[in-house]
Amino acid sequence: MTYFAVLVTIAVGICIGVISTSKLPKGWKVFFLVTFCNLHITIMANIVLRGYDQLLTLEIIYWILTYIAGYTSFYLIEYLRTSNMLLKKYKEEAIVDYLTGLNNYRSFNSMYGVILTNAINKGEQLSVLFIDIDHFKKVNDTYGHPEGDIVLKKLGELLKSNTRSYDIVSRNGGEEFSVILLDLPLENAANVGEKLRTIIEGTSFELSDGTIIHITVSVGVANYPTTTADPDNLLVDADKALYKAKKAGRNMVIVKE
Ligand code: GH3
Ligand code: MG
Ligand code: MG
Repeated sequence: MTYFAVLVTIAVGICIGVISTSKLPKGWKVFFLVTFCNLHITIMANIVLRGYDQLLTLEIIYWILTYIAGYTSFYLIEYLRTSNMLLKKYKEEAIVDYLTGLNNYRSFNSMYGVILTNAINKGEQLSVLFIDIDHFKKVNDTYGHPEGDIVLKKLGELLKSNTRSYDIVSRNGGEEFSVILLDLPLENAANVGEKLRTIIEGTSFELSDGTIIHITVSVGVANYPTTTADPDNLLVDADKALYKAKKAGRNMVIVKE
């Protein structure tokens, strides 16, 4: 009898192992796992409690309760898992731009506040680039909105891969991007702006059907404290410089005077 019990235990153990690692739908896994465990317990109970007249009734109740408990736990865990996943996704979407994976305007704003305070407290310089694609509407009008999205995505990658890992690259909206250059003097920031402008001008943007197009960007640069003594004006000044670049003919970098 002892050998039989050991054999049953091993067999049930193997079955549980096979089912756990199988590709069965989760609901069926729960069913088989509960069933095998119940079979094991029932066989053991029949060995140990043989002759007990309430045994059958107890076993029936036990089987019913374990199925209820098994499925309740299963659905509860699934529910919690899905809720957690959704929460993570929504949290990410709240701070990340869905198209480019860069910071969105919301996270740009909240990070900017912290970075500016930090720069003021530490007596560090802070530079900002505002970057806007020239005549982007034409790209959409000519090739369609989804193709425009491909260009925006690629531009995001270019900005990210051509700045320092700790610079803050964001898509502030539409075809407008920004780079916060931490602890960087004005001259260097203007050089970064010019480097990015040149790289973008020389990049071939491949659309979904293989068509190659080229774009240019206008860039506005401002720096605290060199161009902008009042740190609260830094973003407005970068925007003014960008506007000047547009007015002056586009495809250029203008530093706020
Ligand atoms: P400018 O040189 O003066 O900046 O001209 P522009 O055409 O780039 O500027 P305008 O503000 O007239 O148009 C911006 C265009 O950007 C229009 C809009 O359809 C496009 N745009 C904004 N957001 C998205 C987007 O998420 N995807 C795509 N494909 N296009 C977008
Ligand atoms: Mg534009
Ligand atoms: Mg614009």
